[in-house]
Amino acid sequence: MSCDAWFRDAITREGRWELDQIVYRSDAGNLLEVTHDLDALRAQHDADGWRALWDQRYRRAPYPLQSGVWGKKELVLPGIPDEHVVSLGEGATPLVHTGRYGEQLGLDELYLKQCGTTHTGSFKDLGMTVLVSQVNHIVKSSDSGILGVACASTGDTSAALAAYCAAAGLPSVVLLPYAKISPAQLIQPIANGALTLALDTDFDGCMRLIQQLTEDRKLYLANSMNSLRVEGQKTVGIEIIQQLDWNVPDWVLIPGGNLGNVSALYKGFEELLALGVIKRMPRVVCCQAEAANPLYRAYQNDWAFEAITAGPTQASAIRIGDPVSLPKAVAALQKHGGMVEQASEQELADECALADRCGQFTCPHTGVALAALRKLVTAGTIRKHERVVVVSTAHGLKFSNVKADYHGDGIAGIEAHHANRPVRLDATRDAVYDAVMRHIDTTLA
Ligand SMILES: *Cc1c(COP(=O)(O)O)cnc(C)c1O
Repeated sequence: MSCDAWFRDAITREGRWELDQIVYRSDAGNLLEVTHDLDALRAQHDADGWRALWDQRYRRAPYPLQSGVWGKKELVLPGIPDEHVVSLGEGATPLVHTGRYGEQLGLDELYLKQCGTTHTGSFKDLGMTVLVSQVNHIVKSSDSGILGVACASTGDTSAALAAYCAAAGLPSVVLLPYAKISPAQLIQPIANGALTLALDTDFDGCMRLIQQLTEDRKLYLANSMNSLRVEGQKTVGIEIIQQLDWNVPDWVLIPGGNLGNVSALYKGFEELLALGVIKRMPRVVCCQAEAANPLYRAYQNDWAFEAITAGPTQASAIRIGDPVSLPKAVAALQKHGGMVEQASEQELADECALADRCGQFTCPHTGVALAALRKLVTAGTIRKHERVVVVSTAHGLKFSNVKADYHGDGIAGIEAHHANRPVRLDATRDAVYDAVMRHIDTTLA
């Protein structure tokens, strides 16, 4: 294959490091990004050629190319031999038309990109397959000194890392903030055999610790400051456009915490633009929980950023006060006229319940983005006829504890306006019949 990729400084866009080097920051201390030889890619296929190749592989090519990520291999990690790829069938997730729910929001065309319909239940699989494959490649083809892979996590990164490392036979270590992730997220790395460390700190504390722990390069750093993950995650944006038959949506809303994903979304769109596959960029809105909103505050304040201590939120995977990918995200949002919106705990909880009543099963982070969407529709910023995609970052089942509280004993500080309480009844025909009739009356009311 003629195309090539390497790391460069993500801010100055200078410097060159090879993808098998163990390096996470430039000499200036900036994050890195993977850059592709776009001239070589353009020479390989024109826009129609790329569209045809990607459509032909989609969900049906031989392993590993049927994966949503590896079907775009030339634009993700061109140099890796297929036998070193570690894939669990990630990506190629549904783009679901929301029907009744979109209508209730006042939109003609609202889609949910269901990134949670994948192996470990969140979009983190997309980046992790790339990172673990590359580590596997380095370990198999050189004397790298890498002993294992480690990450700090709000719960979904650790689940993905543990699964992919277990598939590859690599040791994994995960640093989690004690009692700040969901029970489902906690059991995933445990089941997959990771060393699972619950630490008395928050995510930002875990993030600082992991950078110290990986300094001597014996443990490979798997957080999204490692730009290999961005290469997998950027396929979400590409897939959205592919699933719209190569049409560009007007708006894409995405929840943001550490801000790797919004950076990745933009990188995918920018590369499609560079290959001529699309002619314009969608507007992107990064959505934050009010309790963990440092990017929103910066947006309101001429992009002047100050780290905060993030408070408790149902959207626990975005409880981050000092996002590591901030410089990348801000640069992309500024360049392309992106926006930032936020949602309160009350708003996100009710929005999840409303979407679920229309057949979805939304995680709280998706609830943040949907509540932000409702605000932008109400404000007239997003209009009825525009085509809107909301990136749903995880499967609701990973956060069923949050839903159980909402519909059950309640969540402190929140009124559950759309709670559906389970009914305990005598096991008699009349009692059940009456309950059924009451339910039908209220549902159709
Ligand atoms: C990781 C995660 C996010 C945030 O992604 P960032 O890249 O950290 O901004 C949002 N939702 C879920 C469910 C996640 O796991």
